[in-house]
Amino acid sequence: MVDAPITPREALRLLTDGNRRFVDGRRDHPNQDADRRAAVAPGQRPFAVLFGCSDSRLAAEIIFDRGLGDLFVVRTAGHVLGPEVMGSIEYGVAVLDTPLIAVLGHDSCGAVAAAVEASRNGAMPRGAMRSVVERVLPSVLAVGSRGGDAGAEHVRFTVNMLASESATIAGRIADGRCAVAGLSYQLADGGVRLIAEQGLDEPSGR
Ligand SMILES: [Zn+2]
Repeated sequence: MVDAPITPREALRLLTDGNRRFVDGRRDHPNQDADRRAAVAPGQRPFAVLFGCSDSRLAAEIIFDRGLGDLFVVRTAGHVLGPEVMGSIEYGVAVLDTPLIAVLGHDSCGAVAAAVEASRNGAMPRGAMRSVVERVLPSVLAVGSRGGDAGAEHVRFTVNMLASESATIAGRIADGRCAVAGLSYQLADGGVRLIAEQGLDEPSGR
């Protein structure tokens, strides 16, 4: 294990600092060399689980300016959450002991757009893609009546699902060992902003 344990707030700070470097065009490319490769070969201790949309423009280590062994990355279209996905995230939290789960949504998300379309005309995509749209629909329907940003709502929905549906994650939030942060990424400028959180305000955080 190469990296010392840090708090949920410190983990979020590593992400937002790296994203700031990416936005400003002055990336450090940390932990991307042969020394780091050798250091993490015996074991990993990532500081965050990154659960984001699969969109090709959200490449995790690039937009947060991180490297090998830093992020345990789980991505699905529309960051939809089924059993295998939850299991992968729980592994990152419980076995790898990561202090933060970052949910990463973005503007102009195709999965959200497909769910908005389905909510308007009932058209569902064919095959297994249907289950992606079905898992985004509750967020779209939640904003439907009062208006608002369906993508942002889906990030909040996902943060709350992680914190409430997984006893493993809920337990770690309760004792201050883990937090869930919902981030929204802007495709054009490359910046993220925090739009939802569970557990970040623990007194042990800094
Ligand atoms: Zn997307």
